[in-house]
Amino acid sequence: MPPGEFELIERYFRAPAEALRRERGDVALGIGDDAALLQVPPGMQLVAAVDTLVEGRHFPTGTSPESLGHRALAVNLSDLAAMGAEPAWFLLSLTMPDVRADFLEGLARGLLSLAQEHRIALVGGDTTAGPLSVSVQVLGLVEPGTALRRSTAKSGDLLFVSGTPGDAAAGLEMEMGIPQASQVVAAQQQYLRRRFLYPTPRLALGQALRGLASACIDVSDGLAADAGKLAQASGCGARIEVERLPVSAALQAQLGSSALRAALAGGDDYELCFTVAASRADEIPARLINVKCPVTCIGVLEESAGVRVCKNGVPIGLDLRGYDHFNPPR
Ligand code: ADP
Ligand code: MG
Repeated sequence: MPPGEFELIERYFRAPAEALRRERGDVALGIGDDAALLQVPPGMQLVAAVDTLVEGRHFPTGTSPESLGHRALAVNLSDLAAMGAEPAWFLLSLTMPDVRADFLEGLARGLLSLAQEHRIALVGGDTTAGPLSVSVQVLGLVEPGTALRRSTAKSGDLLFVSGTPGDAAAGLEMEMGIPQASQVVAAQQQYLRRRFLYPTPRLALGQALRGLASACIDVSDGLAADAGKLAQASGCGARIEVERLPVSAALQAQLGSSALRAALAGGDDYELCFTVAASRADEIPARLINVKCPVTCIGVLEESAGVRVCKNGVPIGLDLRGYDHFNPPR
């Protein structure tokens, strides 16, 4: 990389992340060599995931660099959360059309403040010229045999979701300037926008569910779609009861009768969708005492494949298209 870029990487990424690398004590060699050397604690399993955000595909052109930095790490931490893993290290691959100090400063701020919060150390990366995209690879740790998976649920298990799905889709619509059906107060608009721009990875929840949840997935493509993936991977189907769906007051005010569709089909929430055997559901409250986000039972897994959305126990046809703005139906 040209020397100018190297200085910027040093200033915005290597230096500010140095304290955390030292504090962790498990980074034998960090940024600066050809590769990082990481000390996996004896007996632990390494958990690895990578996700890329491409401008115009995963975020609107003009998204603030701070939000971009936050989201690039948050979507990956969400994958670790879905596995019940503890974050340890990450690598950053940055492709940008030109080198701008204000952009790098904002991106690093968003990225490293979330990294600090979850004590995940930046240990390397790559910087190239090209259309704007940010790729993060995360590495986490879990005791062997305790990671949550999406393929291990059984028919009859209860289906849960954390938080209030659909908020991020409404926030993205606002970011994209798509006219909204109704007017909400400024504070609610701000809340919905932030749910898209600054998602909260549910790490504490995922870790608390180890040994209790029978399966888990994070909600990135929409609740119905991701619940469907969990069910399919587990060889069953899912029934979602619309009257149980947790809809935030802001989403209800913003979208009115469309709020339920957003909750089922909106992407980018990064909540966790998980299952618990019905016989163990009473263990959930004690597990979640130190977990700040609410969880709601929204349905059950069933033997027959597919996702059924029900109202008063009767399947209803609901057009779930229209909330995936970067992959519109053709
Ligand atoms: P190489 O050519 O050997 O792949 P580079 O010159 O690309 O190495 O990078 C030098 C060092 O800087 C490496 O340790 C690499 O991990 C780190 N690095 C490069 N880009 C970034 C980035 N965007 N964020 C963090 N570390 C980076
Ligand atoms: Mg090299």
